[in-house]
Amino acid sequence: MSKSLNVTLIPGDGIGPAITEATVRLLAAAGADITWDRQLAGMAAVKAHGDPIPEATLESITRTKLALKGPLETPVGKGFRSINVALRKEFDLYANLRPAKSVLPGLRFENVDIVLVRENTEGLYVGIENYVKIGEDPHAVAQSVAIITRVGAERIVRYAFEHAVKHGRKKVTIVHKANILKYSQGLFLEVGRAVAKEYEGRVECEDKIVDACAMELVMRPERFDVIVTTNLFGDILSDLTSGLVGGLGLTPGANIGYEAAIFEAVHGTAPDIAGQGIANPTAVMLAACQLLDHVEQGALASRIRTAIEGTLRDRKTVTRDVGGSASTDAYTDAVIARLKA
Ligand code: NAD
Repeated sequence: MSKSLNVTLIPGDGIGPAITEATVRLLAAAGADITWDRQLAGMAAVKAHGDPIPEATLESITRTKLALKGPLETPVGKGFRSINVALRKEFDLYANLRPAKSVLPGLRFENVDIVLVRENTEGLYVGIENYVKIGEDPHAVAQSVAIITRVGAERIVRYAFEHAVKHGRKKVTIVHKANILKYSQGLFLEVGRAVAKEYEGRVECEDKIVDACAMELVMRPERFDVIVTTNLFGDILSDLTSGLVGGLGLTPGANIGYEAAIFEAVHGTAPDIAGQGIANPTAVMLAACQLLDHVEQGALASRIRTAIEGTLRDRKTVTRDVGGSASTDAYTDAVIARLKA
């Protein structure tokens, strides 16, 4: 018998507990053998421990190396760390994977199936910023430094190609701005092309300048397969690709490092509907499917995805945000029923 998988579960704030519990129920019904270690983060953790990301939570993720996370409310005020940045740094979660797939009928595009791989630790987001005082003006000049390292570029591009090979995808598009930012973006492109050579004959590679890529994404998104890009461009383009398939509500995201991986919904805590039993749990459910893919349980992930997609396409038992009137529980029951059909 295979060993049960230990996963840290962070229910989160707002609608988080309801949508993560719905996901736990779906995974159990699908036969996933998972032992959940429930831990706090966000506002729930501030209330319990005065810290949005307690040591016990970090220790649990260090031990399990896997976490499924509901949305978190980042407390406002000095002294509180940005939770997502803290987790990314703590576990060096260098790859951010955001899939965007057409599921809901009636949207502008029906054949989008893109995986965007964003570098999560470098670029303009390293936090090296300062003002330069000129005369009496302390903020006369502001500068932000973009850091691209050969090691950082190589591991993210390699991750994208390996993902393509593993999931039978045909093409990787390297997105950059090397025509203007000749050093930082130039290095990313240089390294990207070198890595691409190793995959010649197995995975097609093209490179595109980010502005041209943005236009093509909104005109002909079906031409894209896997996209790999630096931190800022990935941040922007991943919201764009989510928009192509109906918004952030259905979008999962994975943050992956060598030592740990954290899977989450991209949307927030939805305070306006929290506690009403009407939240859509799809994004966390799809994040759980990413987790299963990550631990080589792709067949189970596909089975769950098929049930989710079928329920959404059918539109009979879906939540209010996607045009239905079902509760979180009723929708979850419908997905489970389809799983067993
Ligand atoms: P939000 O995503 O929480 O809500 C935006 C709108 O989408 C709301 O009308 C909400 O009801 C709706 N919505 C979101 N998810 C839904 C779901 N699963 N089902 C049905 N409707 C859904 O964004 P916001 O209002 O800007 O942020 C609220 C809080 O969430 C803030 O405290 C913010 O910091 C936090 N947040 C956390 C994360 C995260 O932890 N990954 C991400 C974004 C925002």
